[in-house]
Amino acid sequence: METFDVIIVGGGPAGLQCARELSHSRLRVLLIEKGEIFGDKLCAGGLTLKGMDVLPLPDHVIQQKISRAALHSRRRRADTVTPVPYLFTVDRRELGAYQRSLLDETEVVVKTNSQVTEIGNKQLTLKTGQVYGFSYLVGADGYASLVRRHLGLNVRKKLIGFQYSIPVEEEHPALEMFLDARRFHLWYAWIFPHGDRIAVGCCCDPDRIDPQMVKKGFHEWLKETGIETGEAKLESYPIAYDYQGYKFENIFLVGEAAGLASGFTGEGIYQALVSGQEVARLILDPKHHADRMNQLLKYNRTLEKMMAVFRWAGPMRGALQEFLLFLMTRNWIRDKINAMFS
Ligand SMILES: Cc1cc2nc3c(=O)[nH]c(=O)nc-3n(C[C@H](O)[C@H](O)[C@H](O)COP(=O)(O)OP(=O)(O)OC[C@H]3O[C@@H](n4cnc5c(N)ncnc54)[C@H](O)[C@@H]3O)c2cc1C
Repeated sequence: METFDVIIVGGGPAGLQCARELSHSRLRVLLIEKGEIFGDKLCAGGLTLKGMDVLPLPDHVIQQKISRAALHSRRRRADTVTPVPYLFTVDRRELGAYQRSLLDETEVVVKTNSQVTEIGNKQLTLKTGQVYGFSYLVGADGYASLVRRHLGLNVRKKLIGFQYSIPVEEEHPALEMFLDARRFHLWYAWIFPHGDRIAVGCCCDPDRIDPQMVKKGFHEWLKETGIETGEAKLESYPIAYDYQGYKFENIFLVGEAAGLASGFTGEGIYQALVSGQEVARLILDPKHHADRMNQLLKYNRTLEKMMAVFRWAGPMRGALQEFLLFLMTRNWIRDKINAMFS
């Protein structure tokens, strides 16, 4: 049996970032990805400045740099223009290919087309029957994480995201978000511009609201907004947001395997990058002060609190959204909110 110091299961943004950080060390590292390519994942592909700070992306990976945003409620619209872009959209496969390329010429061993099917004590088994030993195991295997299940942790809180990817002739000029309590409850519909296409979607927590109702409302909203989906297909995928810890003796969870996405915004790439990087640093130095991880947990808690306020508002949610939009027309509040999210 071949043995590695660290085995990372999953080559999403979390696993690849973890591998990159470990590649600077002398540890023997194996990254195992079940897919043939990296980044084949339904996503609106929005990365904020916070995320770019962890993984600065070269221009060829960025599809659109966005400095305009429009926030809509049923009655109002608030526009924001920032002096520098605060959101960067990417194609997830291109992001995956770029992160993978950062491991070229390093000692990290990368195996694609390899699904981990069993985890035992300090060893794991692939679908092919191949067995590998490890000292540390990093679960970066996303929403349906096997590593997480091996630890006895179930996904208790999740969103379902629905999305169309629609070709457009001209660049869509702004990120747009639509609050409509009647249709999307606490959540919202979005338009993320990607140069020659737009990602248009919405999400909801299926334990709180019937996803079929949201889907119906989403299609009514598309019609009202005049967005034609043409040949595009509606895709959907869950998002885990029930963080229950990331360190379990010699096993770590990162990204969505750790439930680190936001249940309010659906954002998860930034969380995946930070947690992947911080876990690698902890493996390299158990005394590492995971300050960035603590900031991330604080950020997620703040978003949870905002979500709780909207939940608590119940039937008054629509009025609260109108009030928020009204506040967004006040410069200092708008700047504060923008700074928090970017
Ligand atoms: C509709 C939608 C829109 C979204 N939009 C945004 C957005 O705009 N911005 C944002 O920040 N976030 C967004 N997210 C969330 C974001 O996509 C995820 O949070 C992020 O991809 C999590 O990264 P990860 O590395 O933890 O997991 P993933 O990206 O899910 O990667 C996990 C990897 O593990 C592999 N894997 C799984 N099981 C195994 C196994 N047994 N063996 C080997 N490999 C395995 C998978 O093939 C996959 O490559 C969106 C999500 C959805 C559903």
